[in-house]
Amino acid sequence: MTAIAQIINGLPATDGAGVELTRVIGQPALPMLDPFLLLDVFRSDDPQDYIAGFPPHPHRGFETVTYLLEGKMRHKDNAGHEGVIESGGIQWMTAAKGIIHSEMPEQENGLLEGFQLWVNLPASHKMSEPAYQEFASDAVPREMREGGVEVRVITGTTSNGTQGPVSQPLTDPLYLDVKLPAGMSFSETITPAYNAFVYVIQGPLTIGDSQTLLSRDQLAVLNPADEVTVTAQPEAVRFLLLVGKPLKEPVERGGPFVMNTREEIDQAFSDYRAGKF
Ligand code: FE
Repeated sequence: MTAIAQIINGLPATDGAGVELTRVIGQPALPMLDPFLLLDVFRSDDPQDYIAGFPPHPHRGFETVTYLLEGKMRHKDNAGHEGVIESGGIQWMTAAKGIIHSEMPEQENGLLEGFQLWVNLPASHKMSEPAYQEFASDAVPREMREGGVEVRVITGTTSNGTQGPVSQPLTDPLYLDVKLPAGMSFSETITPAYNAFVYVIQGPLTIGDSQTLLSRDQLAVLNPADEVTVTAQPEAVRFLLLVGKPLKEPVERGGPFVMNTREEIDQAFSDYRAGKF
């Protein structure tokens, strides 16, 4: 079996107060990859593309995960959390029963590059208390492998035992940011029952024995396997590897809310309007 089930091209989109981004998961070609509901990529050195940011807005029923490669974003929420995510930092925000937060660029020019991933929560935890995990770049371990292969571990544990700082047993995610020098390969064990994808930050690269070259902003959904191998060719590359346990529950979306039923979405809107967040 080939390693790649599907190749997705990111779709240009606008969100927040007018932020230009690329939507990779959460668009017609890939509505979701259970438990991952959305993957947005923002990458621009034109302030017009990002300066408007994401003013206060609610979430319920899932987690928003922001990983910044370059730049600074200030986040603030009505549960009392506030901070600035800087290059290499991660914010893993469990909205659960509901928060209102803002995510605004803390810079007036320069490159802003990063990702927002939405990770679903099981029905049993959608109405839990909000929670929040944030780690600066130096708290994200860097595993160095032979040949100059560099693996940043945000969550999960690599086959060499490097463990990321974020913990989420409900979906048991592995979130790696991998840099490969030209011609080098990277292999990692994955759980065949989980869903997995590779998102290309800088290509071209190949996956498994496929000869297909994947380039920037392409995402490969992987077939079930116990290992994935990525090869840089012919230049140095960088990519994300995400693996997560599928929840296999009904998914109902309504804007910033993701629940199991339409009634729960309606409830989220009426709770928000009633000031219950
Ligand atoms: Fe948000």
